[in-house]
Amino acid sequence: MEREFRAMGTEWWLRADRASMALMDRAQGLVEMIESRLSRFRPASALSRLNRDRCVEDEMLSAVLLAAEDVRVRTSGAFDARVGSAVVAAGYDRSFEDLGATDAAPSDPRRPEVVVAGASVRLVGEGALDLGGIAKGWTVDRVADLLSASGPCLVDGGGDIAVRGRPRDASEWAIGIGDEQTVGLEHGAVATSSTLHRCWRAGNGVAHHIIDPETGRPAAGLTNTVVIARAAYLADALATALIADMQRALPALREAGAEALVQHSDGRWEMTAGMGRFLR
Ligand code: ADP
Ligand code: MG
Repeated sequence: MEREFRAMGTEWWLRADRASMALMDRAQGLVEMIESRLSRFRPASALSRLNRDRCVEDEMLSAVLLAAEDVRVRTSGAFDARVGSAVVAAGYDRSFEDLGATDAAPSDPRRPEVVVAGASVRLVGEGALDLGGIAKGWTVDRVADLLSASGPCLVDGGGDIAVRGRPRDASEWAIGIGDEQTVGLEHGAVATSSTLHRCWRAGNGVAHHIIDPETGRPAAGLTNTVVIARAAYLADALATALIADMQRALPALREAGAEALVQHSDGRWEMTAGMGRFLR
């Protein structure tokens, strides 16, 4: 069975050959429920309430934040969900579907401390959280958990993809990345990140949506990244972290057994030692 729908500002595509219609409905409902809790573009979401009220009780938000804080530490701060104020300062202040040209991109260094205790989350100090670099991958994992109970499945949330088990008609899933490359995967996740799709005019330059936490401004260096990891939240966050600061992100990839293919802004491609075995 297959299912296509729009959520989280992107296209979703689910495939699970042995799933029932009811299970597909639940999977789609799960994505919509998670979006309503984690989107920074929904004033009533747990994330928006946390940024506004500085504390909130929400089990799901606390789980995602623990994952985000874990990736922040592993990447020595290249991935940092606390750059929310800098993302807005760079001009990404509404859903990308509504974003036009904005004025100059100033930096905003404010970053709150995140305190998680059970389901309760508190922000200390100024600044805002933005889960845009991890929430989609995390959701893909949750949907794959649900669908894989029925058998092999593929979950694609706007290019953040998890696969569980072989497809019925092949020995692995063939996943197109970029224009020409294909990745073959039986179990695991792939995510891509790019500064070229979500970019906009700012002042006399071009701004994009990935911040180098060191400078508080859109990162320079890489334009495209593809990461393969055991889970989609990791692939998603590490693909963003590589663009934010490749040197700090690379040890985290190694430690997580993840592989990457990256493109530099001069067009040059580079990949980690183990990436080749996934390319078809
Ligand atoms: P996409 O949303 O297009 O899949 P990414 O997965 O790369 O792109 O996520 C980019 C988003 O992550 C940004 O829109 C912003 O919400 C958030 N973000 C930007 N810079 C960072 C950073 N250094 N660490 C964590 N999240 C970031
Ligand atoms: Mg992503």
